Amino acid sequence: MGIKIYNTLSGEKEDFKPIKENEVGIYSCGPTVYDYFHIGNARAFIVPDIIKRYLNYRGYKIFHVLNFTDIDDKMIKRANQEEVTIEQLANRFIKAYFEDTDALNIRRADIYPKATEHIEGMIDLVEKLIAKDYAYSSGGDVYFRVEKFDEYGKLSKQHLEDLEAGNRVEVSGVKENPLDFTLWKESKEGEPSWESPWGLGRPGWHIECSVMSTKYLGDRFDIHTGGVDLTFPHHENEVAQSEACCGHQVVNYWVHNGYINIDGEKMSKSLDNFFTIREILEKYKAEVIRFFLISKHYRSPINFSDSELDSAKKSLGRLLNTLDKVENLLDLDAVEGGGDKGLKGLAQETEVEFKEAMDDDFNTALAIAVLHTMVKEVNLIVNNKEFILTEGLKEGLKEIKSTFESLAGDVLGILPKQEEAKGGLIDPLIELLVEVRSEVRKNKNYELADKIRDELKNLGVQIKDTPQGVEWKLK
Ligand SMILES: [Zn+2]
Repeated sequence: MGIKIYNTLSGEKEDFKPIKENEVGIYSCGPTVYDYFHIGNARAFIVPDIIKRYLNYRGYKIFHVLNFTDIDDKMIKRANQEEVTIEQLANRFIKAYFEDTDALNIRRADIYPKATEHIEGMIDLVEKLIAKDYAYSSGGDVYFRVEKFDEYGKLSKQHLEDLEAGNRVEVSGVKENPLDFTLWKESKEGEPSWESPWGLGRPGWHIECSVMSTKYLGDRFDIHTGGVDLTFPHHENEVAQSEACCGHQVVNYWVHNGYINIDGEKMSKSLDNFFTIREILEKYKAEVIRFFLISKHYRSPINFSDSELDSAKKSLGRLLNTLDKVENLLDLDAVEGGGDKGLKGLAQETEVEFKEAMDDDFNTALAIAVLHTMVKEVNLIVNNKEFILTEGLKEGLKEIKSTFESLAGDVLGILPKQEEAKGGLIDPLIELLVEVRSEVRKNKNYELADKIRDELKNLGVQIKDTPQGVEWKLK
């Protein structure tokens, strides 16, 4: 079975067929960098991370673009409040964005374009739309003419007539239709502005994503992600702009993640019932927050509360405890012979079922349940009173460990950070110290050698002298 993705555009799960055989292009609507991001934003950043990790695991290469919106009303307001420039504000929260996404073990995108660095492209697109009669300038502003785009409403499944009937906004006089949206707006006194054929102004929000997605991914690309709240009007308008310009479909799969609710109410900045990731990190470990965010299918709403996070912590703890147990057993000496008690088969079966769950529109909830089933089976064996550690069993445990690390670590990214950090600077530093200690021992300075060993042990690094040389392990 292949991978299936629910496509907002068709309203159905579709077989995933990337445009290029082995490479997948993904665009994600990134943050407006005027504040720390909240748990609802975090979900919208983790969802593409899970998709990328899983597609990687299934052999695809990924090219991922995530934008920073660094010019809009919120940016201007906050910069004025804090008496800093827009650029200073943006730099501060872009830095914070990386700190928080790194903490959540979100892999970096390949490129992070900023809106302010693509103004020329936006002016260019607006000019093209005017030339094709899809847009008109009025006063110092430019609007998209929604009635001209026949398929307007196809993404959010709304008919233009219904939207018009439901839209009680007064026609301002400058717009032909109240639903026409801004592509370019005249800037007010003291606002940042750019020269354009329509005078000094700045781009609308929607136009930036049309420009930056197609610039880096081409005018046909595979996946576009974002929170469900962006479907209308942001993504609907993006579809209208991009497709009016290109004359064909641009995005093949539109992927939208569900809301986060607080006590049944939608969490949002405007309701002021949100928590930033920084606030939550003071109480819970990053891997617990991440586990919580992927514990439901990405399209389902999630209810956020301390008790939900506590149960995520327990559930993750059960998985990690078993991994710990397995790792400890692998360090012990075993009795020769013995069978694997079906552990190799269990590892294989787990991988198959995990794949089935993730192939089905990235069902992380089910994938986690599959890992729990594996852990339960392993516990039944290793917690048995008559348990004897044999070489055969150790072979099976090795398979369990590597399956667990691949699925929970590489794909879901829920193993504690320390595990991943092993591959970074820590490994070579430990290697270096181990080597220094060996040299010191060769020179018969046993006192210093022991001191290095003991100090490393205090830091959680265990050194073992074996006939094959020195082995070490991070606890
Ligand atoms: Zn966007």
